[in-house]
Amino acid sequence: MKTIKLVAASILCLLFVSAFSMNTKHGEPEGKGFTPAKSATCTRVKAQLCSDCGFGSKKDNCAKCNKWMGSSKSQAYLCGDCGFGSKKDNCVKCNKWVGSSGVNAQLCSDCSFGSKKDNCSKCNKWMGS
Ligand SMILES: [Zn+2]
Ligand SMILES: [Zn+2]
Ligand SMILES: [Zn+2]
Repeated sequence: MKTIKLVAASILCLLFVSAFSMNTKHGEPEGKGFTPAKSATCTRVKAQLCSDCGFGSKKDNCAKCNKWMGSSKSQAYLCGDCGFGSKKDNCVKCNKWVGSSGVNAQLCSDCSFGSKKDNCSKCNKWMGS
């Protein structure tokens, strides 16, 4: 009688634990998977230059029109397409892989003027907000 009670209790306990762990396992990936997918499409990604295109004074040239930027430069961004996955690690100028030596690409005051700064530095598509 004692052993039956013990077995029944342990089975109940096992059931409870497995049901609980299933619940948490089920809820977790949904929440985790949703956030990165959302931010990947909505957030603009900083455009980068490879070590060639960003070498020396070249990094002071506009990533779009190649004009010298002087002191009025602003960060260049990529749209969700051009910045998706590993594409964000390609140089905005020559499309070569930037690797670990990426330099932030910047825009001159013309190319970043007004609403132009909301266009992708690579494909010129509007990036949205
Ligand atoms: Zn420019
Ligand atoms: Zn490059
Ligand atoms: Zn783009």
